[in-house]
Amino acid sequence: MTDCLFCRIVARESSADIEYEDDRVVAFKDIYPKAPLHVLVVPKRHIDGIQTMERGDAEDIGRCLYAARQIAERAGYGDRGYRVTVNCGAEGGQQVYHVHFHLVAGRRGTRA
Ligand code: AMP
Ligand code: ZN
Repeated sequence: MTDCLFCRIVARESSADIEYEDDRVVAFKDIYPKAPLHVLVVPKRHIDGIQTMERGDAEDIGRCLYAARQIAERAGYGDRGYRVTVNCGAEGGQQVYHVHFHLVAGRRGTRA
């Protein structure tokens, strides 16, 4: 997926402020942060979105959530709490079609 922005960030072909990396996951600061902590957590392997994920994608998706927990705790939000959200498809507000979890903390926001 060479035309995918987040694949290019994973491959270090586009710049990003990388906060976390392991064998399956990369996380980087959102370029337009909506809270003091706003990180995007993505699987290294390209998956378009939750709306098209397959059973075999579940481990990478789950690893993103576990990475989000680790990033939030390292940033000091483990006890305070934080939000992890994913926008799915056009009416879900998804703009980048490489699945990503928004990890948002440090500001009280609207609830789902
Ligand atoms: P979504 O609407 O859920 O697809 O979210 C896409 C997010 O990607 C938005 O919050 C953007 O601010 C963010 N974004 C777009 N381009 C970049 C980039 N080059 N580096 C970091 N974040 C980005
Ligand atoms: Zn991609």
